[in-house]
Amino acid sequence: MDAAYLHNSVFNIEQKRREIEQQNKSFSRSEVKRWFEVNYRAFSKKNAFTCLCCNKPLIMNLTIEEGRPFYFRHNDESECSYSTNTRTYEKYVSKLENKPKKDSGLTIFREILQGELKPYNIEIERGYHFKKKLFFIPDFIINFPDSEKRWVIDYFTAINKDSRSGNYARHLAKRMKTYEAEGFKSFSFVDHSWISLIEETNIGTLLEAENYVTSKSHEDNLWDDFLKENVEGDLLDFFIKDTKATIREFNTRSIAYVDISNRLCTVLRFIPIVQNVRNITYYRLSSSEIPLAKALVMNDEKNHFVLSIENEDEKRTLFLKALIEKKQQSELGVFDKLDLSHFSIV
Ligand SMILES: [Zn+2]
Repeated sequence: MDAAYLHNSVFNIEQKRREIEQQNKSFSRSEVKRWFEVNYRAFSKKNAFTCLCCNKPLIMNLTIEEGRPFYFRHNDESECSYSTNTRTYEKYVSKLENKPKKDSGLTIFREILQGELKPYNIEIERGYHFKKKLFFIPDFIINFPDSEKRWVIDYFTAINKDSRSGNYARHLAKRMKTYEAEGFKSFSFVDHSWISLIEETNIGTLLEAENYVTSKSHEDNLWDDFLKENVEGDLLDFFIKDTKATIREFNTRSIAYVDISNRLCTVLRFIPIVQNVRNITYYRLSSSEIPLAKALVMNDEKNHFVLSIENEDEKRTLFLKALIEKKQQSELGVFDKLDLSHFSIV
């Protein structure tokens, strides 16, 4: 466990370690350890550190090996939901995530969320602080005041891990199902290094694991309605032929990618066009890139994050216009096209 109560405030030992290392750049690991021994060991001996979850006294553990965290454990070696959840979470992160990337990303997420949600009195806590044992621990849990409503946020850094065995995909599928069963509304963000899209053709590849962290929003439903109404008959046949699609139904979904170092969020809206054995080929309908701080603003109805600000009516119209033009061009044929371009120059 990385946090404990000390004098009625939360003391985070890892945060403190990072602070001390920042302030004393020349400190070796044993010097950092000694600093904690001198300043906090007496409190640990006096049972001044207590568990955030069960209130039992905690002992401060200072690991000497670089890269290993400092932590608290119950004095009597017992377990509570906080200690169990922490263990589950750490196991998951070391097995399926890129820890350094995740750590720095979550610091930025927390900073932005705290700023954005402050006016609403909403509390942001780490998933492992949840006062109930969970089998899948989200990165953050968002608690609304005077309500049982809970949102969870995950930042996925290593979506490709075990893609051949499908382990990660199965893990994510179970994770999402568990969240649903707990009544959590979940928001997933995938590291932008996983975007695979050919800009000119709008065609990209989505891993099975990625597919589990897509969502379907109001705007996606609007796209479905629009496509069903406007792309039919000959135009639908042309679209299918042009994109080499084997899926004829429109099922618009979206996925949120984050570029943590630039604090940007890209929401990619797509329709799956081919289901392959290990992945999905998709057609991109639209994408919007906005600052992460804007994406994590609560919408007016307070039931969703904004994620992508604009209304996409105009994008829909442009998509249809471009598709119709492409179809007409292909019907004119190569020679006619050459003649036309000659004509327009004159
Ligand atoms: Zn406890």
